Amino acid sequence: MVLLTPLILLLSSLAFAQTNTMTAIKAGRLINPADGSVIQNALIIIRGDRIESVTTGLLPKLPDGTRVIDLSGFTVLPGLIDCHTHVMLQPEDERGAPPVITKSQAFRTVQAVAAVKRDLEAGFTTMRDLDSEGAGFADVAIRDGINRGIIPGPRLFVSTYALTITGGHMNNAGLNPDIPIPEPATLTDSRDAMIAEIRREVKYGADWIKLYATGTLRHVDPITLESLSQVSLDEVKAVVAEAARWHRDVAAHAYGGDGAKNAIRGGVRSIEHGMLMDDEALKLLVEHGTYWCPTLSVYLPESAEDDTEMRRRIVAHHKGVFQKAMKMGAKICFGTDVGAFEHGTSAREFVKMVEYGMKPIDAIRTATTRAAELLRMEKQIGTIEPGKYADIIAVEGNPLDDIRALTRVAFVMKAGLVYKTR
Ligand SMILES: [Zn+2]
Repeated sequence: MVLLTPLILLLSSLAFAQTNTMTAIKAGRLINPADGSVIQNALIIIRGDRIESVTTGLLPKLPDGTRVIDLSGFTVLPGLIDCHTHVMLQPEDERGAPPVITKSQAFRTVQAVAAVKRDLEAGFTTMRDLDSEGAGFADVAIRDGINRGIIPGPRLFVSTYALTITGGHMNNAGLNPDIPIPEPATLTDSRDAMIAEIRREVKYGADWIKLYATGTLRHVDPITLESLSQVSLDEVKAVVAEAARWHRDVAAHAYGGDGAKNAIRGGVRSIEHGMLMDDEALKLLVEHGTYWCPTLSVYLPESAEDDTEMRRRIVAHHKGVFQKAMKMGAKICFGTDVGAFEHGTSAREFVKMVEYGMKPIDAIRTATTRAAELLRMEKQIGTIEPGKYADIIAVEGNPLDDIRALTRVAFVMKAGLVYKTR
């Protein structure tokens, strides 16, 4: 106990210093995703890590030492939230031998340190990371390193290992069964195994539980586009109940079919991907108020090898499901699968959403107000309002006229600290 005292004193003095730092931001144009309003020449006052006030007009008299940041030539928005990321993954890991074979966890962690910096500098101040993909609990270390101020990065919610089944998604397929090779997710083939795995993940730091409710692309029937269902309704209910015991929510990777329906009926908080959902699944999604992260852009073919007839059919289906979901009022959230493509480029998803018919303000909402709700963080983040974290970004141009402005982030503040400026 004696040893702890100086640490506590140090931490409390740091907190004191931070709560007393005053910053004023002059915003040329401020977008409020809550009501869609746009304020010209707004003035944001920040005390420590929180927003104190948002007004218009001239700079009032501010205490000595107040830092003034001039963003009058920019559009200012709340920090963006990507609800489906993989900080432990790099695009190169998607090609060739799986990273559990070719890379140490230590090297993957070094790559993740650089990845989270790029994601933050791209305007993403919060991310929900859905599966460390064979890098164990290294995502917890990245989250904690960020929270302790050791490395720069977004506010992270991590899910460590994911739950899958033997032979399903996130299995090392096609390798020699005589050599013991770690799997990228945990193989849980019974309700008891699922429950035990959730307890283990929570014990070592998981904020969310990730469940593979369907298989991956290699499991999709090339004729019918039916996806492999990996879970029964009963199993999903058991997973959701166990997660709830620990005050955790469940995100389900689900393309469509029975796996997606069981996930929705069983009470998961979000469906990931969902590009092969039929009308019944979409109706269930809306009825249950389940959030949906479509991750549109990650399924677009990026090489001639990917550009198959089947992939084109899947992409066309994805677009159709997205457009129906918008009409039906589904709770669409911004999620990208970044890591499968270059970190720092998540904003490309906005461009796809708008191309598929979403209004720019609604696309912004998916990554701010709606995403904050999904994370149960709506009182803390998602808008620039008094009392919330000072998560603030600025972009060149007006994203309401041209959504590609969100790919040109010039300024990033997270919890009152500036991480990018010009
Ligand atoms: Zn993913």
